[in-house]
Amino acid sequence: MSKGSIVKVSGPLVIAEGMRDANLFDVVRVSNERLIGEIIEMHGDRASIQVYEETAGLRAGEPVESTGVPLSVELGPGLIGGIFDGIQRPLESIMEKIGNNLSRGIEVPSLSRESVWNFEATKNNGDKVVEGDAIGIVQETETVKHKILVPPGVNGTIISIKSGEYKLEQPVGKLKTEKGEEIDLMLYQRWPVRKGRPYVKKHAPTMPLVTGQRVIDCMFPIAKGGVAAIPGPFGSGKTVTQHQLAKWAQADIVVYIGCGERGNEMTDVLNEFPELIDPYTGESLMKRTVLIANTSDMPVAAREASIYTGITIAEYFRDMGYSVALMADSTSRWAEALREMSGRLEEMPGEEGYPAYLGSRLAQFYERAGRVTTLGSEGLDGSLSAIGAVSPPGGDISEPVSQATLRIVKVFWGLDAGLAYKRHFPAINWLTSYSLYTDSLAGWFDENVSPEWNSNRARMMLILQEEAELEEIVKLVGMDALSSSDRLKMEVARSIREDFLHQLAFHEVDTHTSLKKQDFMMKLILDYYDKASSTLEMGADIEALVALPVREKIGRFKYVTEDDAENEFVSIGAQLAFELSELLNKED
Ligand code: ADP
Repeated sequence: MSKGSIVKVSGPLVIAEGMRDANLFDVVRVSNERLIGEIIEMHGDRASIQVYEETAGLRAGEPVESTGVPLSVELGPGLIGGIFDGIQRPLESIMEKIGNNLSRGIEVPSLSRESVWNFEATKNNGDKVVEGDAIGIVQETETVKHKILVPPGVNGTIISIKSGEYKLEQPVGKLKTEKGEEIDLMLYQRWPVRKGRPYVKKHAPTMPLVTGQRVIDCMFPIAKGGVAAIPGPFGSGKTVTQHQLAKWAQADIVVYIGCGERGNEMTDVLNEFPELIDPYTGESLMKRTVLIANTSDMPVAAREASIYTGITIAEYFRDMGYSVALMADSTSRWAEALREMSGRLEEMPGEEGYPAYLGSRLAQFYERAGRVTTLGSEGLDGSLSAIGAVSPPGGDISEPVSQATLRIVKVFWGLDAGLAYKRHFPAINWLTSYSLYTDSLAGWFDENVSPEWNSNRARMMLILQEEAELEEIVKLVGMDALSSSDRLKMEVARSIREDFLHQLAFHEVDTHTSLKKQDFMMKLILDYYDKASSTLEMGADIEALVALPVREKIGRFKYVTEDDAENEFVSIGAQLAFELSELLNKED
């Protein structure tokens, strides 16, 4: 173990000498108060240390001790429902111990050593196991079966294993490796946060992460294992959208990383998240959630670590064969932490003072998402989908963090303050948003929802784009100058926006729509368009077509329950045909 001493302190950056034997990314204990830090640069025996606690009062000459291990997280029962800070210190148990403000240098294990877990072995003595195999299960909450995995790099034969009640530090069994070494099988393992956990194979993004949010699933879908960005101008509905995704996205586990700047004690997230109800179980959403929150009394440097802590935990659950959704809010705050450290390291600043490696760091983070075949003899299908919020100052996405993010992510949900102002929710702008997964997911929708899904989606997008062009004309010459067919197109575009894209998060039925019902909704709107167009060609009056009573029914279809949707769909179709033929008869 390497021991040195402080030569310089600059905010969260501490320079220490005499660190020759330490390694880059080692965790170190700084000063007599034993503050936690991480070596982020080495020059000879000089180490630059990013300190995750307040450094005020530190003096040159105080000791710095390397622990010889990289910044790591503990992975095991106790994660679910947990609230941790950026370096996985359990906020709740710390608060119980010492109140609201974290005192410095405090040492608390990440996962409780007192909790007792009921371990149910799924392997027997004499079984051969490989890295990533599950040796048993802990039912951690009503919703989460926590699989106890053989850690990466370990293979051998089980020589003892027993179901029963265990604390974290009590071995549940033993394994003998091929070399004859005996290893204790534990309920938890450690993993360095800056290194992605291994898997067998990464797959192409061919399955959607279904969210029940129509503008997302239909217009700008995200794949399982995909990466998306969502900018959040204040009041544009970022929080509501993220909560909707956490609740409804088809994810077994949600990992939420809050790198907020606001709040004296805890960010809003800590108050809001535990109150969300999981619609699938009626229980608290926390029963399948892990929260990482940076409290304001931790220096910015801790934010830098938090996204790695979060994604490592997410990978661990992916390795159990689960679908994991990770949300980081916001990566802009994270980038600011990077900028601050870079400035203190006196690196050459890039655009707006961000370091030149901003883009590659962001890429390294998002690269850890994906749908994979897990390690282990069974090779399960696990996925980690990542959704990063960016909060550009003034909502202007031409700034470096947004731009670097957009170069990496495949989906962009452009929240628009203007739409939110008009109370069009979710305020995802259909003209600026995009999903690069649309093509690779087309086959899935075709097979699993409907053969018309993709073509209807494309038609709706086109109508919305044409609407934007027509609006320009209307602004210049007025609505009356439009041809009847363009009038009809404008009406249909309005219907797409109001009857389909607009979706109320707080409405019992509207809050979530199955893909089947989304398909019905698209068909109703486009069916009206097609039939009204041909009726128009036969000489019908545009005003009468626009005013058909059936349109009200199409508009209210989103409030029809899933159970009644199919009957209502058929009935609206019949009513449309009837009203159109009446209309023609009248005009004859
Ligand atoms: P932000 O986090 O971007 O500041 P919020 O998510 O808190 O904004 O949203 C602001 C307000 O907009 C909410 O209080 C809510 O009234 C409304 N809102 C946002 N999204 C929706 C939605 N999908 N359905 C209904 N209302 C919404």
